[in-house]
Amino acid sequence: MKKLVLCTAITLALTACGGDSNSKSPSPTPTSSSVASSSVVSSISSSSSSSVAATPKNVVFFLGDGMGITTLTAARIYGAGEDGELTIDTFPETAFIKTYSNDAQVTDSAPSMSAYMTGVKMNNEVISMSADTKAFDSTSASYLSGTDSTCPTTNGTPVTTLLEIAKEKGLATGVVTTTRVTHATPAATYSHICHRDGENTIAAQMVPAGAGFNAKLGDGIDVVLGGGRQFFQSTAAGGKRTDSRDLIAELKTQKYSYASTKAELDAIDPATATKVVGLFNSSHMTYDLVRAGTNEPSLSDMTVKAIQVLKSNKKGMFLMVEGGRIDHALHETTAIKALQDTIAFDEAIKAGIAEIKKIDPTLANTLIVVTADHDHTLVLNGYAARTGKTSANNPGVLGLLKNYTDGSIAKDSEGMPFSIIGFGNGENRPADDRKNFPALTDAQVFADTYHQEAVIPVAAGGETHGGTNVFLGAMGKNADSFAGVMDNTKVFTLIRSAVDL
Ligand SMILES: [Zn+2]
Repeated sequence: MKKLVLCTAITLALTACGGDSNSKSPSPTPTSSSVASSSVVSSISSSSSSSVAATPKNVVFFLGDGMGITTLTAARIYGAGEDGELTIDTFPETAFIKTYSNDAQVTDSAPSMSAYMTGVKMNNEVISMSADTKAFDSTSASYLSGTDSTCPTTNGTPVTTLLEIAKEKGLATGVVTTTRVTHATPAATYSHICHRDGENTIAAQMVPAGAGFNAKLGDGIDVVLGGGRQFFQSTAAGGKRTDSRDLIAELKTQKYSYASTKAELDAIDPATATKVVGLFNSSHMTYDLVRAGTNEPSLSDMTVKAIQVLKSNKKGMFLMVEGGRIDHALHETTAIKALQDTIAFDEAIKAGIAEIKKIDPTLANTLIVVTADHDHTLVLNGYAARTGKTSANNPGVLGLLKNYTDGSIAKDSEGMPFSIIGFGNGENRPADDRKNFPALTDAQVFADTYHQEAVIPVAAGGETHGGTNVFLGAMGKNADSFAGVMDNTKVFTLIRSAVDL
């Protein structure tokens, strides 16, 4: 439900939400409240600054949106079989991450990604702002008018992100996602706003020299690839901007090479392009399952191109890569799309590691982290016989549950078959006893559009996140500092320490 208009002055909102961060943003040097273990940072920097200063340092942070451990396991079975291995499974160092937010047991992507990027635990819907920032006022209306921010000036302050720190230290920076580039996860790397839905405001924060630009980004993020053209174009041009600006034209003026298709991205020469923006869909990019036939690049294509452009900076790079639509498919309870997008995310990790090893073969100066921002309610039912990986003729983990004892189709208490994958809540909740519906078939539950059954009925698309811990894998420079069970805010501290950022 949206939302009372509390204040419609865009200029006021930009100031309030960090659009002009000269006066609002804290110093790039972390404060004691934003960095829990600053002593770790300083001890590493004092012991290794002479050697680190001479070599490029790289951070590649991979984020699977909504990629809970159950989804990750299902994706492994889907793509490689029970005994197979995804690239994610090969990370030598691992940890579990607590994802709760400042005000909620179950987080959304905004505060969870912001916690990774800033070390501050904030409220749901808030993007890289202080813990006291409210996404809603006392009447529970959000501080927004449509996609334009109306955050009051008294509502919190921006907190510095890893990307801003990297930019301040002269590293190249990149943001790659399959969602709109203004969506919560990518936005948390470079913008500050009291509510994630202010995507017009968020877009303006990344455009150098324009009104509302986040000055902490210096001359701008070096590579931005994903979807979301609509927030860069005016309503007259088919977009959703209410201020008539053409942010794509403004970015071109600021020396950005622009791509709107895979062919245009391929045509950009990474040896000469220093700034690249690619917006390949008006909204989110297409699910990988049905991407064939579109003009959109894969997540792997974008990841490799980003590294190729960023590596020309001799101080190194900070790159964030999001598999962003895993989450959307899970909200739909369409598991096949979620598992295929997880595989596409894994392929991007594999391709990204290979590309960065061309400049740092042993990852001596590169830290690679893969994690998720939160879980969902996907479950794997019962004592299924091993299925092996999914193929055109084998639904695998997407099929009906068959007993491991004799391969027969398993039955519920009413004698009816059910699928291996289900959801705790979702839109497909039988409105009567399951025995009063036709028995499910493999062909039915293996279809691209099938919504798995859920225990609790909710509106279409309304399946929720879950609050379970998520997986983190790390490899490369000081990866072994990631271990055990930790809070999501600790990840920020450990990344900074690992590469002396
Ligand atoms: Zn979500």
